Amino acid sequence: MQQELLFKVLVVGDLGVGKTSIIKRYVHQIFSQHYRATIGVDFALKVLQWDSDTVIRLQLWDIAGQERYGNMTRVYYREAVGALVVFDVTRASTFEAVLRWKDDLDSKVTLNHGRPVPAVLLANKSDQISCQLPKLDFFCRENGFVGWFETSAKENRNIDEAARCLVEHIMNNE
Ligand code: GDP
Ligand code: MG
Repeated sequence: MQQELLFKVLVVGDLGVGKTSIIKRYVHQIFSQHYRATIGVDFALKVLQWDSDTVIRLQLWDIAGQERYGNMTRVYYREAVGALVVFDVTRASTFEAVLRWKDDLDSKVTLNHGRPVPAVLLANKSDQISCQLPKLDFFCRENGFVGWFETSAKENRNIDEAARCLVEHIMNNE
């Protein structure tokens, strides 16, 4: 018998960092230069054959419009079991915002026993020249991220790996 698991995963970060592009790349294998801000909340479903007896449905929650406030409603966070926190390596301000997103996440959703949901940090647009960043291994340990990846939605870099890392942590909490 195959088991099917459904996981709600949030994709957060400032406007323009590439959240929608990452989801489109991961789920539909496409990329577009054309900037088109999503309106409201959007969903995408990625189905993973995790192992021979487990199918995982990853429900990816995209946000749009509300990014500028750096905080989302509780309804958006409800029952999430993991998050991808995205910044744009070319814009330092989007990295500075990462901790606000992490705080917002941790204040609005927790697992049983009040533990934080696993969050993976994505340094996106790594096909471009990066601004100065601190050591991200240290940053992640200090700030409760389970890991980080240099991603590019444009060049399809490390997105599968980042998602896999997140799912592994989610599975450990099941
Ligand atoms: P969102 O507001 O976080 O959803 O960001 P979008 O996905 O709409 O992306 C904003 C802009 O950045 C668009 O013009 C994308 O084409 C571009 N973009 C997204 N990811 C990448 C990437 O990995 N590399 C480059 N060079 N551009 C990207
Ligand atoms: Mg978007």
